[in-house]
Amino acid sequence: MSISEKLNNIKSTLPDHVTLVAVSKTKPLEDIMEAYHAGHLIFGENKIQEMADKHEQLPKDIEWHMIGHVQRNKVKYMASFVSLIHGVDNFKLLKEIDKQAQKHDRVIQCLLQIKIASEDTKFGMAPEDAVKLIQSQEFSELKHIKIVGLMGMATFTDNMDQVKQEFINLKTIFDALEKTQTHNCKLQTISMGMSGDYELAIDCGSTMVRVGSSIFGERNYL
Ligand SMILES: *Cc1c(COP(=O)(O)O)cnc(C)c1O
Repeated sequence: MSISEKLNNIKSTLPDHVTLVAVSKTKPLEDIMEAYHAGHLIFGENKIQEMADKHEQLPKDIEWHMIGHVQRNKVKYMASFVSLIHGVDNFKLLKEIDKQAQKHDRVIQCLLQIKIASEDTKFGMAPEDAVKLIQSQEFSELKHIKIVGLMGMATFTDNMDQVKQEFINLKTIFDALEKTQTHNCKLQTISMGMSGDYELAIDCGSTMVRVGSSIFGERNYL
């Protein structure tokens, strides 16, 4: 099946309230253009430099999502164009995003990454730290960022009961935090689910799925 066929098949199964982020990391410009010509505009990358290079060369109506771990010193390379940063997990990073967004007179939308996996290799905040951050004075002073939701990554395992429990956990945290609204925090999005588990994630309340290999094929890492 071609990229556009796989993309359209997946899209046809998604409920209306679920946004598809096509994860194009490591894939060439031609692959992205095939999805673009099929009408898709939202792409996810996990390396800032790679995303910036692709943004430079591709149509400007593409919405770029940064889905990977973000290094503070690289925020400046995406601040002019990134449309959503999924992996924000500490205040210092948020402050740097705010600073760089201000330079471009933008408000950058962010998701707080919550640690739901049992492995300790995954990034993310403890839910109680997310609450503290949202309620802090220093957070309320940031005018160029907006927290619009939460993101989580389940444990890398074949145990779908465990994955399901982790997704339910994120949804529960979301429901609790949703009530805490401030001028720069209004939770609407739950980003969870990838190629292997996005259907399960949607059943558990996901509103944004990040799907790569099921659209573009397996990635070849050197
Ligand atoms: C690579 C990646 C994905 C997509 O993974 P697939 O299994 O190829 O769908 C989703 N989310 C994040 C954070 C990723 O790094």
